[in-house]
Amino acid sequence: MRKLSLAAAILAATALHAPAYADGHLQIVEGDPLELTIQMNHARYPVYKEDWPVEQQAREWTNIHLVDVTVGANMTSDSENTGRTEALNLMLASGNIPDIVGSSRIKDFVNQYGPEGAFMPLNDLIEEHAPNLKAFFDEKPHIRSALTAADGNMYYIPYLPDGKYGRAYWIRTDWLDKLGLDVPETVDEYEAVLRAFKTQDPNGNGEADEVPFFARQWPEFIRLVTLWDGRSSGSDTYHDFMVVDGELQHPYAGEGYRDGISNLARWYAEGLVDTEVFTRGSSARDFLLSENLGGSTHDWFASTSGYNRLSSEIDGFAFKAFAPPASVSGKRIEEHRRIPIKPDGWAIGGFNKHPVETIKYFDFWFTEEGRRLANFGVEGMHYDMVDGKAIFKQEFLDAGPVNRSLYQVGSQLQGRGYFQDYNYEIQWSNEFALEGIALYDEGDYLIDQFLGVAFNPEEQKVYDKYWGSVRDYMLERQQAWILGSADVMAEWDDYQAQLEKLGLSQVLEVMQSAYNRQYSN
Ligand code: CA
Repeated sequence: MRKLSLAAAILAATALHAPAYADGHLQIVEGDPLELTIQMNHARYPVYKEDWPVEQQAREWTNIHLVDVTVGANMTSDSENTGRTEALNLMLASGNIPDIVGSSRIKDFVNQYGPEGAFMPLNDLIEEHAPNLKAFFDEKPHIRSALTAADGNMYYIPYLPDGKYGRAYWIRTDWLDKLGLDVPETVDEYEAVLRAFKTQDPNGNGEADEVPFFARQWPEFIRLVTLWDGRSSGSDTYHDFMVVDGELQHPYAGEGYRDGISNLARWYAEGLVDTEVFTRGSSARDFLLSENLGGSTHDWFASTSGYNRLSSEIDGFAFKAFAPPASVSGKRIEEHRRIPIKPDGWAIGGFNKHPVETIKYFDFWFTEEGRRLANFGVEGMHYDMVDGKAIFKQEFLDAGPVNRSLYQVGSQLQGRGYFQDYNYEIQWSNEFALEGIALYDEGDYLIDQFLGVAFNPEEQKVYDKYWGSVRDYMLERQQAWILGSADVMAEWDDYQAQLEKLGLSQVLEVMQSAYNRQYSN
């Protein structure tokens, strides 16, 4: 009996102290470590650092060592609209394509140059050597479709965000209380509340200086067309196409959009919206809330909830998320959500001599241990396991913005293909954000997103030829209508005719053919 207990105790102690990976099940190569070169480049971390604790841990587990050969790091411009970084072009021009290439906005780049041989197709490699990736894609076929290039192959493993919620409607609930108003439930009530903010001096300084609706990004103001059953975008990218019952459309050509713009122009003329909404820019939220002037906005949960710290300076300050007001037809939708797949991630260079080991290495990041490493850093250093969950160490949470701390140790890198774990973020979201997310969860306001298409060379040509001028025209008229220099209702037929003339139909046609090819299964 005594012996048995002792043996059991030793076993228990071994289980407690032996690391989970002691059996070597994550090891990919035996003997000497296999070195693979990597170009990794992102606005936040311009080169791959071999001394990142996360890289060190991955080396220990897999016996694969990544060696940084990143070129063009200083040239990265990571511009929103170019779709590819200068660094990738420099790398290609140098003629040296490393074994692994990780970057922000790599999708269009690999889909263009992969079929020409610069990157390896991953489909068969995944099928034969990457059980965790295969299981992931089998479970999420829409992600597989979204990843597929025009030739039917997959050329990169993306960064896959987790969590559904991004932005919400926010309002000064203490102002509502002060004026004896309820949280607005409909577009009409929302308008009445914004007007009361403008005319009834909720900040109490005797001046009509309140800015009822404001936005850091002006397209968030345009997004209010959803209150008139219009749409402003089909994805988390502004002005994007959308899919309605399998058909590609552009939001800025719809009648709900027309009606929404007409009403938003009226709101703007009546002072219910920041007169500087198109120019104030990213400091709008910080300035207008800190100065006790801003009443309502549409912005991210986590960062906006943080402004409740102002309650220590502004008596009674409370800025809370509220549910999307019902539209004129009674629909409540939240158009913005996190997209489940990003154009960022990593790919295998076309000259890589170890494709099997490399796909196994990519697969490692989709194992339980690898995913935790990608999300939370190194156990015992950055987090501890508590009741089966990774919980950040308090000193790590206290060390500054958690996102930044994670980049600095090699975690949450968007130039790496990995599946984010939303639990990493919940641990540092404040009560106002969590309360708001619960409210949005309860109401189920999110709508489906357009996950993008991959063009073949002919489609790409058509898109490149027409889309720029169509888009410019749309945005130019949009602003003229809001600012009141033209009337959307009077101009609508001419506007439609001009869109046709500029080639919107041709653009929609190639979008549709790419979409049908890509998502027909
Ligand atoms: Ca005032």
